[in-house]
Parts: sequence; structure tokens; C-alpha cells
Amino acid sequence: MKCGQPGSTTLRKTLHWHPEWVGLTILLSPLVYVIVASALRKSEPVAVPLCPTHAVKHRRALITAWGVAAASLVLLGCTFVEIASAGGGEVVGAAFVASLLGLLAAPLVGIAGTRLLRPVFIDDRIVRVTGAGPGFLGGLSPSPWPPG
Ligand SMILES: [Zn+2]
Repeated sequence: MKCGQPGSTTLRKTLHWHPEWVGLTILLSPLVYVIVASALRKSEPVAVPLCPTHAVKHRRALITAWGVAAASLVLLGCTFVEIASAGGGEVVGAAFVASLLGLLAAPLVGIAGTRLLRPVFIDDRIVRVTGAGPGFLGGLSPSPWPPG
């Protein structure tokens, strides 16, 4: 799906999509957004084939994200123990901030590194996505849009 090489691993994902204007309802209230988004959300299971190289990249990004999250939690726990016993200090303060930054960064690393396909439209007939690589797209034959 990324480089056009034959897939050795097939990841099964469920893509979710709702119209973009639904995002504006969060300005009214997060609760309104959750209700409207879940009412209008379309979901579609997809199979994403990956070659060995891209499968390894995907797995590595996932492991990195979980590793950063786990290390940050351990560091955060250590700073709490240190603050409780010795009352802290500059080094403990810096470690505390670093652990919080790590906890913020982990999901971003995970999302950025593992996102394969992003849905841009889903209805009962069509699933449109972005994120396939040029190596894959170059191997497709052009088709008329919209499909008949
Ligand atoms: Zn590949």
C-alpha cells in the first residue's frame, strides 16, 4: 500500500469518517460534538497490505510510541517518589517536566508513525482514502471519477 511491493503482512483496520462540518459542533459543546459525530459517523473495515520493510517501520513506530509512554510513566513515578521523600529539587523538577512532555509526545509519535490510510469520504457505496504511497498509486490504472 505504500511502495507498491507485494505485501507480506495485512493489517486490518476500521476507518471512521464523518462530514468535516461536524467538527465545528465541538465549539458548541464537546457533548454536542460526540452526539452528532457518533450519529453521522460511517465506518468501514479495510485490509492494508504492507511489504516487509513498511511492516517493520509500522511496528517500530508502534513500539517507539509505547516505549516513550512507558518510560515517561516510570520517570513520572520516580519523580513522585523523590518529591515525597526528599521534597524535590531542580533535577526532579526537570525530570517531572520531561515525563509530562514524554506522555504528550507518545500518542503523537504513535499516530504520526502508524497512520496508514486516512478516510476522506465514506458512504454506503464509496470509501475514499488518502495516504497510499506513490509506488502503489503508480501501479494503478486510471479510472474515471466519480465511478459509474
Ligand atoms: Zn513497502
